Amino acid sequence: MVKSSEKRQKLIAEFGRKPVFLPDATRGAVKALTFDQLESVGVQHIVSNTLHMLMSPGPDHIASMGGIHEFIGWDGLILTDSGGFQVFSLLHRGQWDGEIHDDGATFVIPEAYAKKIDHVNKRKSDTSDACSLFDGNGLTVKSPRDGRVFELTPEKVIDIQMQMDSDVMVVLDDCRKTGISRDEAEKTVERTIKWAERGKKYFDEKYGGSAETGKLLTAVVQGANYPDLRRMCATELSKMGFDGYNFGGYLLDEQGNLVVDELKTVYDATPADKFNYAMGCGKPTDIIQAIEIGYTVFDTVLPTRNARHGTLYSFDIPAEDEFKLKIKNARFKDDNAPVDSTCDCELCTRYSRAYLHQMFKVGELTALTLATLHNLRFYQRLIEDETGDYSP
Ligand SMILES: [Zn+2]
Repeated sequence: MVKSSEKRQKLIAEFGRKPVFLPDATRGAVKALTFDQLESVGVQHIVSNTLHMLMSPGPDHIASMGGIHEFIGWDGLILTDSGGFQVFSLLHRGQWDGEIHDDGATFVIPEAYAKKIDHVNKRKSDTSDACSLFDGNGLTVKSPRDGRVFELTPEKVIDIQMQMDSDVMVVLDDCRKTGISRDEAEKTVERTIKWAERGKKYFDEKYGGSAETGKLLTAVVQGANYPDLRRMCATELSKMGFDGYNFGGYLLDEQGNLVVDELKTVYDATPADKFNYAMGCGKPTDIIQAIEIGYTVFDTVLPTRNARHGTLYSFDIPAEDEFKLKIKNARFKDDNAPVDSTCDCELCTRYSRAYLHQMFKVGELTALTLATLHNLRFYQRLIEDETGDYSP
């Protein structure tokens, strides 16, 4: 195993001590930006999606290229999820074929989904790119035309993330949404605890744990919207000694409000000297609320995805409007003001709302880059402001 650079070791050591936002780099790139551009707005951490990387290019390939940092050219911190979130959501909703069992999950990635992700699939007979990690370990490989079959277990998700050389890893959990029955929630919590224990044991015994690898391992707290189950899950996981505790499942209730009480319950039940990660949180106003509770780690696709659809965040727009400005709206056609008069990014210091409006109107690719750059700068400033480091 290649030792982390000094820069990364420092980022890992300080991770979660103060609020940090990780942009989404699902497939190893933040869409529409280069890493120089990403660094220019103050980003030092990204989150990558294990399921997508598992399908293409596959952990073997990433390992053979020297690990994910070497492969993608990013010496900042990389957090990877367990790969379970999408899989379990889709299996529980019956949208994918597969089975959740006591060992994890076995599933078939539908051809349409795999194709969207994995262009290698165009070569009909090629099944080698993603699957060799599981050879002889229970993996059955079907023809890509039928969809490939994968298996995720608590041990395998550790192996995958170790092969990728992730800095902050997540153990496998049974992810459910809020609003499920108590019986289902109990089952979910039971599995989540059992799998976390297996993942931690495996990481410690096979790799020497955090002390030996210099990596952080985090667990996910489940329990849907049952505070006592959330508390019990958090308490049990805390006994195992993880480096951080993540709020799993869904962060919003059926009305779309942040589940503040559940977030507090989990925060209070986990060790004060470890960080709390609100997975997939979210809207700027939700992040502010979660920081007030004590959460310090955040990731969401919102700023990057919204940017590509012409929704920009601006401190010139009131919080009750979610700081959102829809640049494609005709009223910006003649607006010479910057998107955000307080922002120091390239878009705001150089271009007007009218120019960006026109770039979106004609489908100019630069519009996506400028909008993404700005939205990520907005999130950085939001986080920095909450730590007291930033004053507009
Ligand atoms: Zn800006």
